Amino acid sequence: MCHAVIPGSFDPMTLGHLDIIKRARSHYDKVSVAVMINDAKSYLFSLEERLEIARLTLKKYPDVEVIGDRGMLVDLFDRIGADVIVKGVRNEQDRAYEEAMAKYNREQNPRAHTVFLEAADDYEHLSSTKVRELLQCGASLDGLIAADALPYVMARFVEAKQ
Ligand code: ADP
Repeated sequence: MCHAVIPGSFDPMTLGHLDIIKRARSHYDKVSVAVMINDAKSYLFSLEERLEIARLTLKKYPDVEVIGDRGMLVDLFDRIGADVIVKGVRNEQDRAYEEAMAKYNREQNPRAHTVFLEAADDYEHLSSTKVRELLQCGASLDGLIAADALPYVMARFVEAKQ
């Protein structure tokens, strides 16, 4: 039994994230998505909203567990009995950052190894930042976030602006 945890901000979860999660599902017995909160970051969507967007995005994959966490990834890793961290990488900049994070996590918890999955060609230019920018401009998010999550994302964004 190999249990993978896929951590991130998911502000909001995109089809690029979903692609990594679906691929991890085919490699590991159990996949948990950890929606994290980092006090140093500011988010467009609250933790509860980011969790709901992740749940809606993963509606067709009920075997994928979605959890929210305000602490350290290495602590969550032990608490849920994970065996590996899975991260998507889009480019060299992502890889350099994620490798530094992976080293840090391994120093904190020698069991916490990270496996990198390369972004699919279709999604290598897709980021949550781009989605947030398009939302601010009122542009379409079709093909960028899951159709199941789109109405919720739009409604929460409109409400937050009022
Ligand atoms: P971001 O760095 O965009 O705020 P998150 O923290 O939400 O991203 O992302 C979690 C992980 O997902 C990171 O490892 C990031 O590299 C990866 N990721 C983000 N977008 C994509 C994508 N389009 N394809 C593959 N991996 C991605």
